[in-house]
Amino acid sequence: MVSPLDTSGNPNRACFLDRDGVLIEDAHYLSSPDQVRLMPGISGSLRRLRQEGYLLIVVTNQSGVARGVFPEDAIPAVHQRIDDLLAAEGAGIDAYYYCPHHVEGTVKRYARSCSCRKPEPGMLLAAATDYRLDLGASFLIGDKLSDLQAAEKAGCAGYLVETGHGREYAERGRAAGIPVVADAVSAVDAFLETAR
Ligand SMILES: [Zn+2]
Repeated sequence: MVSPLDTSGNPNRACFLDRDGVLIEDAHYLSSPDQVRLMPGISGSLRRLRQEGYLLIVVTNQSGVARGVFPEDAIPAVHQRIDDLLAAEGAGIDAYYYCPHHVEGTVKRYARSCSCRKPEPGMLLAAATDYRLDLGASFLIGDKLSDLQAAEKAGCAGYLVETGHGREYAERGRAAGIPVVADAVSAVDAFLETAR
């Protein structure tokens, strides 16, 4: 299916997806395409979002690069694998943004604070510029409070899922008034329900 990107000058809407624990199963510092497992049912939700006119944008912290766990050039192969698995089910991602930094990193060129690592909203803001997004009409799905904090700073809605690391954060999320749902499929259902 062709991406719904609007080229006529109107703003676009996006669904921002955290990667590990939301779009794909979490694996500690996942760096090999062989480790990629799509979350159950996610491709159907992505197809539905595209039909509804949403761009699908992955925003992922990859501090394993700064920590020296894997090289930055391992990341595109993982994303290619995600694309291949989704394409086999008629779905796809429009753009990937990742942050390779960490302030306590061991690899010098990545060892710094930055504006892209969530909870900072840099990746969302960059995507908003690149794709002319209406952030107020967009939403994010994450499994950590840092994802939701990035969404809040960017001015878009957010859902915390209980997959990945989500269970660790569910109680604090609820206390903070964040919608907590079982998984990304449920998050998409809930958001589209409110967006009508
Ligand atoms: Zn960064």
